[in-house]
Amino acid sequence: MAHTALSSTLLTGAAGQQQIETDVLVIGGGPAGAWAAIAAAARGASVTLVDKGFCGTSGATAPSGTGLWHVARDKEAREHAKASRFTMGGELAEHAWMDRVLEQTWINTETLTEWGYPFPVDTSGGLQRTSLQGPEYMRLMRKKVKEAGARILDHSPALELLTDEGGRVAGATGVTRTTGETWVVRAGSVVIATGGCAFLSRALGCNVLTGDGYLMAAEAGAELSGMEFSNAYGLGPSFSSVTKSLFYNWATFYDRDGVPIEGAGSSRGRGIIAKTLQTQPVFACLDKADAEIRAWMRNAQPNFFVSFDRQGIDPFSDHFPVALRLEGTVRGTGGLHVVSDDCATSVPGLYAAGDAATRELICGAFTGGGSHNAAWALSSGFWAGAGAAEHSRSVRGLARRVLRRAGTAGIQDGGGTAWDPEAVVRAVQAEVFPYERNWTRRADLLDDSLQRLDALWANLRQAAAPSAEQAVRAREAVAMLATSRWMYRSAQQRTETRGMARRQDHAGLDIAQRHRLVSGGLDEVWVRRQNVHNAAPANELERIAA
Ligand SMILES: Cc1cc2nc3c(=O)[nH]c(=O)nc-3n(C[C@H](O)[C@H](O)[C@H](O)COP(=O)(O)OP(=O)(O)OC[C@H]3O[C@@H](n4cnc5c(N)ncnc54)[C@H](O)[C@@H]3O)c2cc1C
Repeated sequence: MAHTALSSTLLTGAAGQQQIETDVLVIGGGPAGAWAAIAAAARGASVTLVDKGFCGTSGATAPSGTGLWHVARDKEAREHAKASRFTMGGELAEHAWMDRVLEQTWINTETLTEWGYPFPVDTSGGLQRTSLQGPEYMRLMRKKVKEAGARILDHSPALELLTDEGGRVAGATGVTRTTGETWVVRAGSVVIATGGCAFLSRALGCNVLTGDGYLMAAEAGAELSGMEFSNAYGLGPSFSSVTKSLFYNWATFYDRDGVPIEGAGSSRGRGIIAKTLQTQPVFACLDKADAEIRAWMRNAQPNFFVSFDRQGIDPFSDHFPVALRLEGTVRGTGGLHVVSDDCATSVPGLYAAGDAATRELICGAFTGGGSHNAAWALSSGFWAGAGAAEHSRSVRGLARRVLRRAGTAGIQDGGGTAWDPEAVVRAVQAEVFPYERNWTRRADLLDDSLQRLDALWANLRQAAAPSAEQAVRAREAVAMLATSRWMYRSAQQRTETRGMARRQDHAGLDIAQRHRLVSGGLDEVWVRRQNVHNAAPANELERIAA
């Protein structure tokens, strides 16, 4: 494949100012990365965790309250939980994975309780463990990562992976922003836990989430899956980055004349909001919340109200403008394809966890936001860390390996002229933000966007390497570009409407397309089908068709 030929840059000793050797390198310090680090250390591995921001405050979980898919160890309750999104997810979830995640989430939540996470007590005296407050949760996770003995490099984005002669992933390089120093971590295995891709849409916690892990992994030969399920849009005030949308269940949506918009709503009616926003502004008012609910809201998510209070807007009586911000794969479900229970990718030595990995296995084509994603982050992180620790043992005995840098566009010098990463960011956003292109897709518009995105990629492959100051932004821009191409190529192939993959030109569900779309490649993007492992019985298929 194209990337093999590109990965020809040998790593020299001088390639990084800070040199580290470790068994397991975890890239990304959100919940998935933190659980991975803890699980790897528990298996005796030495662990290094690098984060683009500050592990504990960076990423999508840290600033928000997070609903968690925590279900009692009761057969009926778990069956009910599994069924809750199965149909909405286009029946692409797999029972075995849902069972595993429910159980691991239960176990890890017990661990959080033992560690002293302050779960609230309900009226019957039991602990309420169906949500986690991001700041408390991630503060605790950082503490536990450190206690486990892992080394943390904050403000140290990874830029590219390293591979050995056998194509195994063997570390990464990056830069520490606070000092400007470059770093090289040689590792027995690597966990990608870099979150999803929200295309720098300014959604809270998401501006570090630019798909870097997808890019780095694909450059080493990894595959992605479900990239057509990548068009989650968060609902929020147009003047604020807060896209927590639970409270909009108590909202009425109005047009510019103050007339309620029929059918508009936070969940099922979000499509009407997207459609209306194409021609006129949409306003919301949380006028269905009574006094008790209002008090609960202020208590449950204080940061929801900050921007309203600052602007002197009363969201319970004033009409305020709303927007839908693209959250891409953060609350979508696409991501790196995992091939075994330990969340290994198809590339030896490379593991994926959290939003960086596909969540189709537990939520299919429907968003994993609200509960499943948080459960997946802590379960997949746990498994990936353990798997990576095992793998690192298997390469420990190898002689010092000759490593190559796997990075391509935006890091290798293509010999051409300099380019502006901000211009590339804007160019990608122009293709992926518009509701008419991405909320609902259409073959001619997908072709139209892909023509420009492919041309942009070809140009970047020929362009000069960016300056050291621009290196991080350049790789973010390239990662967003690569993500948009996997996303739209996969969307082209799904000629039906399933879950969040909505096609204007193929409005219905096609029972013949109950498969995954696995994608990959950089210069040439490819997409192939893969079967889902728990095919529904025939009568089930008839039911869907009806
Ligand atoms: C507003 C909002 C509300 C949500 N609410 C819920 C909910 O209620 N329930 C639910 O289940 N899910 C919810 N989600 C989704 C949930 O937040 C994510 O699924 C979860 O954060 C995923 O954890 P993660 O560790 O994979 O990624 P993140 O928490 O996003 O962490 C990724 C980390 O990787 C780091 N990183 C990125 N690139 C690099 C790089 N190149 N090098 C080094 N580090 C890097 C980032 O700095 C970040 O710290 C919500 C998402 C949003 C945006």
